[in-house]
Amino acid sequence: MRIYHKIPELKEYIAFQKAKWRSVGLVPTMGFLHEGHVSLIEKSASENDLTVVSIFVNPTQFGPNEDYETYPRDFEADSQAARNAGADILFAPPPDEMYPDGYGTYVYVEGLSDLLCGKSRPDHFRGVASVVCKLFNIVTPDRAYFGQKDAQQLVIIGKMARDLNMGVKIIGCPIIREEDGLAKSSRNTYLSSDERKRAAALCRSLYRAQEMVQAGQRNAGIIHDAMIQTLKEASPDLIDYVEIVNADTLQPVELLAGRVLIALAVRFGQTRLIDNIVLEV
Ligand code: AMP
Repeated sequence: MRIYHKIPELKEYIAFQKAKWRSVGLVPTMGFLHEGHVSLIEKSASENDLTVVSIFVNPTQFGPNEDYETYPRDFEADSQAARNAGADILFAPPPDEMYPDGYGTYVYVEGLSDLLCGKSRPDHFRGVASVVCKLFNIVTPDRAYFGQKDAQQLVIIGKMARDLNMGVKIIGCPIIREEDGLAKSSRNTYLSSDERKRAAALCRSLYRAQEMVQAGQRNAGIIHDAMIQTLKEASPDLIDYVEIVNADTLQPVELLAGRVLIALAVRFGQTRLIDNIVLEV
């Protein structure tokens, strides 16, 4: 596995590979890799000649009081995990390689970025779309792999790629979970053992919603209230939101029909966790 920290060297190597008609898959991450990331890397490695994994804790997607400084980082363990999963290239630029002095261009995907997580994290998706756009320009991937774990991010990147004719195929991958159902996340390491146990309430409430839909319930308000009740049993420190929306437009639905995304964000202690489920109704 080749490791690059600088953009020009990486671009040169990828141009050389593409001249030989090698297909390129990209897996963008913020590092501290776990089985969720590994599943994306393995999928890319199975579908492309060359898999690029980027590790970049992107400052522009963190709010002023968020965890940019304390976000977990472990470059040695990450390079091992990426190599074992089948990555050919690891791209880990320092912040000033991506945002040199005088940097000033951002991508904002209208109509989607201010919903769900965007309500409490107003600049988050502008930072995400901008850095992913930059990574697409640097790596020129044929395919890029994103987890359904970050459902809103996946919808936003898909729209950005279509709207800006980026010519990269965006591939969504299923959520990888712990044994008790908690979605794997680098931020789970912040949880105390008590918070960790209580955090399983996120997926419990999603499963409860799924069972209600399977039993014929279509009323979003009733499902929403049952989910809140399940969450409250675990005494969360904050329920940021529980929303039932159209999976493509992210607009709220009152009666469930078609592809529906049920998404939530909940804080245990200082740790904000997200999870979701997509139902075909
Ligand atoms: P992150 O490093 O948290 O920015 O995540 C990098 C990529 O991995 C994103 O596309 C995430 O959606 C994806 N990802 C994170 N956690 C999981 C998970 N538990 N299952 C599947 N994909 C995940």
